[in-house]
Amino acid sequence: MPENHLVPFVEATIRVFDRHGERVSRHKARIKYLINKIGVNEFLKLVDEEQKAVLNKTFLIDLNAVKFSIPVNSVKKEEPVVSNRLEYNNWVSTNTFEQKQSGFYGVYIKVLLGNISSATARKLAKIINAYASSEDVRLTINQGILLKFVTKDALPYLFKELSKLELATPGFDSVADITACPGTDTCNLAISNSTNITVELERVIYAEFPDLIHNHDVKIKISGCMNSCGQHGLAHIGFHGSSFKVVTNVVPALQVLLGGGTLGDGKGRISEKVIKVASKRGPDVLRTLFKDFEQNAREGEYFNSYYDKQGKDYFYQLLKPLGDNSTLKDSDYFDWGSDEKFATAIGVGECAGVIIDLVATLFFEADEKLAWSAEAFDNGQFGDSIYYTYASFISGAKALLLDKQVQVNTHHTLIADFDKHYVETGLVTLQTSFKELVLQINKNEPSKEFAEAYFAESQSFLNQVKTFRETKVLELK
Ligand code: SF4
Repeated sequence: MPENHLVPFVEATIRVFDRHGERVSRHKARIKYLINKIGVNEFLKLVDEEQKAVLNKTFLIDLNAVKFSIPVNSVKKEEPVVSNRLEYNNWVSTNTFEQKQSGFYGVYIKVLLGNISSATARKLAKIINAYASSEDVRLTINQGILLKFVTKDALPYLFKELSKLELATPGFDSVADITACPGTDTCNLAISNSTNITVELERVIYAEFPDLIHNHDVKIKISGCMNSCGQHGLAHIGFHGSSFKVVTNVVPALQVLLGGGTLGDGKGRISEKVIKVASKRGPDVLRTLFKDFEQNAREGEYFNSYYDKQGKDYFYQLLKPLGDNSTLKDSDYFDWGSDEKFATAIGVGECAGVIIDLVATLFFEADEKLAWSAEAFDNGQFGDSIYYTYASFISGAKALLLDKQVQVNTHHTLIADFDKHYVETGLVTLQTSFKELVLQINKNEPSKEFAEAYFAESQSFLNQVKTFRETKVLELK
């Protein structure tokens, strides 16, 4: 794809995701599901349908716009900076590499869980300015950071400064560098905790298997549910959050998956589900796997070759004692990082009381989006204004559908369901179908005239659905 078509393509793709009810922040993780569901041709057709509404039809990317300068070396040679030589040597051997530009080193920063506070990031920025190229800093696929153009003399100074921020942990991209999704910390879909277990597993590796910081052949990845945002399906050792019942109690659990990974050349292999264990037994799963591999694998054998040689059942039998629920302890009923007994949450919308609140919240959101639309319009941002107007239509329709207890997952089905339950039944009167009304968005250029007319129609629609609901609530009293 020509580079100047990339930005409009991405913009149109995001709009397709919005129509399918996906959150923008998760597009990267969910694109595979949408394409799997509707097929790549249908996906590209939908992207094509959105092109008319895209504000910038071409966007020229100037690849020469960013100039890379080599940092001025601010190192004072006389300072002895490294107090712990072993730690420093480990860090140099696992987190740095010689660049092809002679005399310069790339430095990886291992970021626990990929979390970094803005206060730490500001301090890190100062360190980067002093010792590395400030124009070429990269975020890595495994939630870390890559610095470039560090001189050999600057490495000890950089190590010392990064250590103060706890950003000089060795073992970048090693067995000890576990990728995890946010899980129960912020995601409503998470079943059991994926972050605190990650912290614990890394602790176990550093304390009990310190040599593994030099091993890059085995990747461990953890997700809070089967959706795989933490890429557990592509890990040599993967875990995803789960639960199981023991009589009337629910136990937080980890589904253990083995044998996945990337093979290079765009190829990969999907891991196999082997066994489900209580979450608190996750560290013992690692201990068992590592000890077995150490004792029984051939010298130099890769983990996945060993997995293939032994077969899934061998690993099931190996881990079976950890899946024995008759030996659970009281602590197994508590998830990592929680002092409350584990329970799976019931989603919003399960009870009538919550539905009433949710409907009011959706109307509030619809009003809010119309206000944003008006603000964008006043600032001359007609594309943004149109987008917010569209979002207001969707929130208003969703509110009434929830009131009728119609479950909606995507914008696509929401639009069809609103026509079916309200327009075709005559409960809401429109000049056209709701679909034609709301999807004017991809039939029109993002002009001032269209933004104005679309806004007025959305405002009138919102007034009508709100009045409809108020009347219904009054009738119920
Ligand atoms: S809990 Fe599930 S949906 Fe949420 S981020 Fe993790 S894998 Fe994705």
